[in-house]
Amino acid sequence: MPVPDAPPPYGTVVFDCDSTLSTIEGIEELARLAGRHEAELATLTDQAMNGIVPLEEVYGRRLELIRPTRAEVEAVGERYVATQLPNAGRLIASLRELGKRVAIVSGGVLSAVLRLGEALGLGPEDVFAVELSFAPDGSYAGFDEASPLARAGGKVEVVRALAATSPGAVALVGDGATDLEAAGEVARFVAFGGVERRGLVFAEAAVTCAAPDFLALAPLLLTPAELDDAGLV
Ligand SMILES: [Mg+2]
Repeated sequence: MPVPDAPPPYGTVVFDCDSTLSTIEGIEELARLAGRHEAELATLTDQAMNGIVPLEEVYGRRLELIRPTRAEVEAVGERYVATQLPNAGRLIASLRELGKRVAIVSGGVLSAVLRLGEALGLGPEDVFAVELSFAPDGSYAGFDEASPLARAGGKVEVVRALAATSPGAVALVGDGATDLEAAGEVARFVAFGGVERRGLVFAEAAVTCAAPDFLALAPLLLTPAELDDAGLV
């Protein structure tokens, strides 16, 4: 069934984090830092993002394999900042100057995604991800199993709730199957392939962007008048 699509203007723009705002997959970066199970983790993530296996089957399993420490999660936050897509900060600043709400909705680890949000000028009220808990010595102690973002269909719930409490129509930009699931909740879903072009997501989406530069998203998210106002033409 084709994904519905309505042109700009939008009052709210939601971005995915991993392989959208940043070139990395945080969970794979955690595995790399921990030096364990990298190949197995990459396979699990790929299967989840391509919709082959439900997210909830792999979410806790990945974290149990890695058992990331607090310091490793902080390091991934810094990696997110260092691997932002070109012009991500510029586009987000322009959207906010135009009076729009900008949010990040991610299945990644909250404290790491918060660090990227902070670097992009977003406060904690605009960042949605999965909280981990740590023992006093910083070792892994579990994740928020109640978070909808740790299961398939969860992004839909979070985006729906966000749309209900945010100004104007909502646009969503993301690369993965969980982003595509939420497409029905928003006025426009942009399949982003600037890092990983996922065949199933690109095939279903009405609007796609394959360029590895956030300036290419501007005409898909803003009216010609807004582009002019923001100096993005
Ligand atoms: Mg992603």
